[in-house]
Amino acid sequence: MFITFDRECSQLYNRLMNILLQEFNTPFGTVPFHKIHAEDFIPAIETGIKIGKEEIEKITTQTALPTFENTIEALERSGELVNRISSIFFNLNAAETNPEIQRIAKVISPLLSAFSNDIILDEKLFARIKHVYNHRPALNLTTEQQTLLQNTYKSFVRNGANLNEDAKSRLRSIDSSLSQLSLEYGEHVLSETNDYKLEITWEEDLAGLPESVKKAAALTAQENGKQESWVFTLQAPSYIPFMTYAENRNLREELFKAFASRAFKANENNNENILLQIVKLRYDRANLLGFKSHADFVLQERMAESPEKVNTFLIDLLQHAKPVAAQELEEIAAYAQAHNGPAELARWDLLFYSEKLKKEKYTIDDEVLKPFFKLDNVIKGVFEAASRLYGLVFKENTTIDTYHADVKVFEVEEEDGTHVGILYTDFFPRPGKRNGAWMTSFRGQQVIDNQEQRPHIAIVCNFTKPLESKPSLLTFNEVKTFFHEFGHALHGLLAKGTYGSLTGTNVYWDFVELPSQIMENWTYEKECLDLFAYHYETGERMPAALVQKIKDSANFMAGYATIRQIGLASLDLKWHTTNPDTINSCAEFENSVLRETELLPSMPGTNTSCSFSHIFQGGYSAGYYSYKWAEVLDADAFEFFQEQGIFHRGTADLFRKHILSAGGSEHPMQLYKRFRGKEPSPQALLRRTGLHSQR
Ligand SMILES: [Zn+2]
Repeated sequence: MFITFDRECSQLYNRLMNILLQEFNTPFGTVPFHKIHAEDFIPAIETGIKIGKEEIEKITTQTALPTFENTIEALERSGELVNRISSIFFNLNAAETNPEIQRIAKVISPLLSAFSNDIILDEKLFARIKHVYNHRPALNLTTEQQTLLQNTYKSFVRNGANLNEDAKSRLRSIDSSLSQLSLEYGEHVLSETNDYKLEITWEEDLAGLPESVKKAAALTAQENGKQESWVFTLQAPSYIPFMTYAENRNLREELFKAFASRAFKANENNNENILLQIVKLRYDRANLLGFKSHADFVLQERMAESPEKVNTFLIDLLQHAKPVAAQELEEIAAYAQAHNGPAELARWDLLFYSEKLKKEKYTIDDEVLKPFFKLDNVIKGVFEAASRLYGLVFKENTTIDTYHADVKVFEVEEEDGTHVGILYTDFFPRPGKRNGAWMTSFRGQQVIDNQEQRPHIAIVCNFTKPLESKPSLLTFNEVKTFFHEFGHALHGLLAKGTYGSLTGTNVYWDFVELPSQIMENWTYEKECLDLFAYHYETGERMPAALVQKIKDSANFMAGYATIRQIGLASLDLKWHTTNPDTINSCAEFENSVLRETELLPSMPGTNTSCSFSHIFQGGYSAGYYSYKWAEVLDADAFEFFQEQGIFHRGTADLFRKHILSAGGSEHPMQLYKRFRGKEPSPQALLRRTGLHSQR
């Protein structure tokens, strides 16, 4: 039988048969992974976008005057279907991808960005939003509604909705130049990283390197068509072990200089001019939108609020960290000299001697700790910690569908049995999975028409897989990673708001790591480790002395690490607050900024800004300080827990209510103060990292 589909008919077929477009008739409405076929995605996304557009059109063509409900809330609710489909798709693309999914991603991504561009440039829609915004004092909105209105209005204005036609077209042209320039910047860094190869033909030159590192280098050599040699590159897995272990000082120097001069040499990959242009365009863009600088523009949407506040924050930390860093360097220099090292430390000596000193001081390594961290025990420990803190119960449910046999599903419940949400865990590496660890959601929490939708959250990691003869044993770092991602998961699971764009992890950038990083603190506490850190063969508890060593070694070189982070954060901030007309040379500017945080002699021919991809290619511009900012928050918040005991229910209740459940419903500083009773102070971080007492 032949059936010919015309377009109309195939669309109908699509709507009837495409599982992605139907309501999921599954336990808790979870995703029916096995019923989804890769070929369903593109037509489903197309249909989803079409429906989304119809929803927007309904808002803009109605005759009723704009109100919060018929405009702001209606916009918030629009695109529900396409959002659901794209979150399923991109979660799969990250955790279980294949060439077909990757091909589909290339089709889908431009469709989705065109869709969101259409919305943000819709003038009729903006006129309605602005009307509601201008009438907001009379509207009697709840705090959550006020935040939603503010966010909606700002997202349009920050994209130029309030500008006249000329300024709008100037903004578009800046945006397109900027995306072109960051692309070029990134390509240059990539070529410079990939082009360089250090080939070693004398085995003696490998002295000090672990066997696994040598093997990897031999493999790299083969891949590059070289026989009987070893090749090292500027990629982290090759570069870092070489700088840490290679005894040949001249070769360390060579590799270091190659790394630190990327995109700063006189060749076609030089980034000096490009970055000066990027900085200038960002500055102009900010001015056009009414901001003093790019940093002012970015920080409007951050907990830190202003460049001045970030600057004060960095200077304050630097004052404490710098003297400690100087002591640390002295200790390493003395150690190096006592071990036939150089009279004066150079940058390429630091990793090498600090690693040796660390080993000598703490005598703990992964192999000593791993037997205490059997994955099954750690899972139980994490769940037990959540139960003590928040009264949560985790019940495995094997009837819920997953995208891979390794994935486990848990129903999360309150103590009284109330359903909280669904948690997927996906722990082991496999070919279709991205590196690293992350938390994501298949469905967020929200309330629509008085019906609450509870969240479906996943944590995805790459831990060592169990063997038949040996269970999965985690390194301490992996245990910390697990607690970290679990903290993000709690932020998602315990969400309790009305509007999806304000719940769970939808918070300001420099606030989103508080729930995750705070969880890492429990992994240093004996009381918590006693819940799960048993030797997998003997059943012995982790000895207190070992726990203390973990704590002490975590602070090794903390001063130096801190001033390095402050240096990068200041460099980022200064590039994005200074009037670019006053900057003549990339190198001079960088040196003048970094002078404050440098303790080792500067190296002519090297430059950080030319390969600082975080801020000139990625989205971290004027945001590098967030790493330290988040540490200050989590240290300060954890001290509050420590005051009454790390499993104190009252403190946990406050944290749950004002942080985990509140999402982005209000400015994070308000939320934080409600939890803590005061603003965060850097003192707690200084105490935790041992930078305080030594001053
Ligand atoms: Zn995180």
